[in-house]
Amino acid sequence: MTVLSYEEALAAYDPVLGLEVHVELNTISKMFCGCSTTFGAEPNTQVCAVCLGLPGSLPVVNAKAVESAIRIGLALNCTIAEWCRFSRKNYFYPDMPKNYQISQYDEPIAYDGWTEVGLDGQTFRIGIERAHMEEDTGKSLHVGGATGRIHGADYSLLDYNRSGVPLIEIVTKPVEGTGAKAPEVARAYVTMLRDLLRALDVSDVRMEQGSLRCDANLSLRPIGTSTLGTRTETKNVNSLRSVERAVRYEITRQAAVLAAGGRVTQETRHWHEDSGVTTSGRSKETAEDYRYFPEPDLVPVAPSREWVEELRATLPEPPAAKLQRVSAEWAFSELEMRDVVSAGAVNAIEATVAAGASPQSARKWWLTEVARRANEAGVDLEDVRISPQQVAEIQALVEKGTINDKLARQVFEGVIAGEGSPAEVVAARDLAIVSDEAALAAAVNEAINANPDIVDKIKSGKVQAAGALIGSVMKQMRGQADAARVRELILEKIG
Ligand SMILES: [Zn+2]
Repeated sequence: MTVLSYEEALAAYDPVLGLEVHVELNTISKMFCGCSTTFGAEPNTQVCAVCLGLPGSLPVVNAKAVESAIRIGLALNCTIAEWCRFSRKNYFYPDMPKNYQISQYDEPIAYDGWTEVGLDGQTFRIGIERAHMEEDTGKSLHVGGATGRIHGADYSLLDYNRSGVPLIEIVTKPVEGTGAKAPEVARAYVTMLRDLLRALDVSDVRMEQGSLRCDANLSLRPIGTSTLGTRTETKNVNSLRSVERAVRYEITRQAAVLAAGGRVTQETRHWHEDSGVTTSGRSKETAEDYRYFPEPDLVPVAPSREWVEELRATLPEPPAAKLQRVSAEWAFSELEMRDVVSAGAVNAIEATVAAGASPQSARKWWLTEVARRANEAGVDLEDVRISPQQVAEIQALVEKGTINDKLARQVFEGVIAGEGSPAEVVAARDLAIVSDEAALAAAVNEAINANPDIVDKIKSGKVQAAGALIGSVMKQMRGQADAARVRELILEKIG
């Protein structure tokens, strides 16, 4: 596939984003029946006549799901419909045995909202077109092919446990004016949304488990023009990092098509995490293809204004206000705060501070030890196997003098490798700093005796030469000594 360089693409074209995020709600039961929604159960053990679409079964709306939908809509500054209906979206696919999905079409529960995303000191306002309720489909597993897709597979397996799990689909209006920052804005928006949904406590928002899924729409138009170009929809991009990468790739791919005089095809595309490219999926259907019609088996949803106001009172702090608050509380410089936001570490740091660490130490560990491992593994920060509580415990061990910063890195390694709590890793790997003064004194003596020339330098006033002796002592102590104490001992002995 030919692509243009990112710089060339941006010199000629203006990207316009559109993001569709599907959120699985964390209700105990499904959208229209009482089946459990617990993730990871044996296939087809959480099903009934309703979510299998058996003849004669009738759906009933889950009130908790409607409540969550309204709270999401309110948190995104949407208008909440006084009256709305469900619709049938008709299409055949084996993971949806009714041959239609119960969704909302022209009457979404929440519409016309907005939110804000901060990036590198700039604020981008994102318009929200709608947030509507629907049911999830089952899951198909295509076995035997090289790609895991149906094409080339020997056979397919179906699991209907997910069929009927409540979903909210949140659709943005076209996001314009982001220029070269489009990929980062896309990532920042999904990150903000994830944090907001978590604060609302309406979903597990685990991208790798599929409870938060993002489809990224992108089109290009020549710079200086205002008509929207033809868009593609990249499906099910399953990490925050992939959102950014997929948008970036599509910009360079579409730019190459347009620059060669071609036309972008309106289609869905698949994102390939390993190769970092998108490939053509199916040509994109229009709404007419689905033959939407109002669902006759369900009564309309008409939330009273009193209820809506009660729910408004339960909203968490808006993300933008939260950022302002924590950056004041933590006293980070503007640059430090930017790094924290772009690493998606705000919540992790907040939780680490709540567990007793200082803001600066929490920032340091999340942005160095944890971020490095997340990058190496190609995962998001929160998917690294260490909790804010454990990071705070490691910092506490440093402050108590049990370990130093260097040893702390080994503790991170051990905790992330699953060797236990920070204290257990320190014990098992024998990492604690030796406070045995006799052992330290012996090591100091040895370093002094072995390096008479350095000792002479120190005696003649070049105190910085002590660094070499400290290094020698630390080596003898396998790093398990307090460097400041070692320095003190050396200078005492020589002076
Ligand atoms: Zn069911």
